[in-house]
Amino acid sequence: MTDIEWTGGALPTFVTHLECGLTGERYQADVVQGLSKAGRPLLVRYDLAAAAKVLTKDMLAARPQTLWRYRELLPVRRPENVVSLGEIVTPLVPLPRIARGLAKGGEILVKDEGRLPTGSFKARGLVMAVSMAKELGIATMAMPTNGNAGAAMAAYCARAGIAAYVFCPDDTPDVNVREIAMQGARVFLVDGLIDDCGRLVAEGEKAVGWFNCSTLREPYRIEGKKTMGLELAEQLGWEVPDVIFYPTGGGTGLIGMWKAFAELEEMGWIGRKRPRMVAVQAAGCAPMVKAWEDGAEHAPRWEDAHTFAAGIRVPVAVGDFLILRAVRESGGFAIAVDDSAIAEAWSEVARTEGLLLCPEGAATFAAYRQAVAEGRVGPGERAVLFNCASGLKYPMPPAGTPLKLGNAVNWQQLIG
Ligand SMILES: *Cc1c(COP(=O)(O)O)cnc(C)c1O
Repeated sequence: MTDIEWTGGALPTFVTHLECGLTGERYQADVVQGLSKAGRPLLVRYDLAAAAKVLTKDMLAARPQTLWRYRELLPVRRPENVVSLGEIVTPLVPLPRIARGLAKGGEILVKDEGRLPTGSFKARGLVMAVSMAKELGIATMAMPTNGNAGAAMAAYCARAGIAAYVFCPDDTPDVNVREIAMQGARVFLVDGLIDDCGRLVAEGEKAVGWFNCSTLREPYRIEGKKTMGLELAEQLGWEVPDVIFYPTGGGTGLIGMWKAFAELEEMGWIGRKRPRMVAVQAAGCAPMVKAWEDGAEHAPRWEDAHTFAAGIRVPVAVGDFLILRAVRESGGFAIAVDDSAIAEAWSEVARTEGLLLCPEGAATFAAYRQAVAEGRVGPGERAVLFNCASGLKYPMPPAGTPLKLGNAVNWQQLIG
């Protein structure tokens, strides 16, 4: 028995090879791979024409509603290696009250990824990376994280029987550190940023031979994140939205969605239209915004990175050129919002729409608001904002008025 409902038999995946995202050089699939010789991410390639012959939209619609319904477009070959915790379809939650005031006939849809296992969309990437690790016989994995990725890796490693080592900055939210430990991983608090943690993971890789699962250093997290693009198109009736706001750290999701849209077009499932891809960053850590404004292909490390939106505090990204390429090819842009705008957006959406975002998700709304004000999003456009984690995973502002039993309650004052 596997964790997922299967229609029987070996997995009909259509992987042909891996390819360097920078040089296009080919690499073999089905063996352990890290970065390409050029030191850049490897992308998984498929025989999409063959996949399009066996898979139909109706077949997809009839399958159980988990991300494994896209299995022909995913890398895992054997069902027994699928390590699932129930990767459900996440809802598109409209923000009608806010849209009425802001969108001028347009639509704001929040893709609420906080509903996934471990409470963040890191589950999409890590369920794929860990399933592939199991398939390839990897026994020990390590990663640097700002919290959510480590939690997802810990959970899936626990389920797969793989040992997990996780390195976080020492100011990572407590709840993340503790959930990582609860899920059986060894967790280390480093007095630095995520790229400092990444250096430790790379050193440990040389010293003790664990598998380095850093963002984009292994080829399969992108494939998991790609399902956001597949799912979004499917949910919108095989249409893409006009514009997507994505809180960008390492950029896996943005790169993954861009790849998804290309694959869907190659299969003839969507047309040529693409959403404008908007990379949202915090003003205190905006390497992609700077590179986009400078017209550069790569983004140098951002010094003194700071923002309370921990998931996007990523000073340097190995997939920088893939993020920038997707943003440019799509006609989108990169935009920075400061922490006060993020905090205001966080409370506004919760207060007026009842949707508690994570701070990174709130950053996308702050960016949307700014983009509308600057005329970068037009009247009548359909925008999708990514909320990548449950708001419940983050420290919230203190609240609660004390009430002493035995004292008379002034009810008028209480409701005032
Ligand atoms: C990791 C993370 C991000 C950034 O995602 P990338 O695909 O790495 O750019 C954004 N928000 C949250 C909540 C995250 O955990």
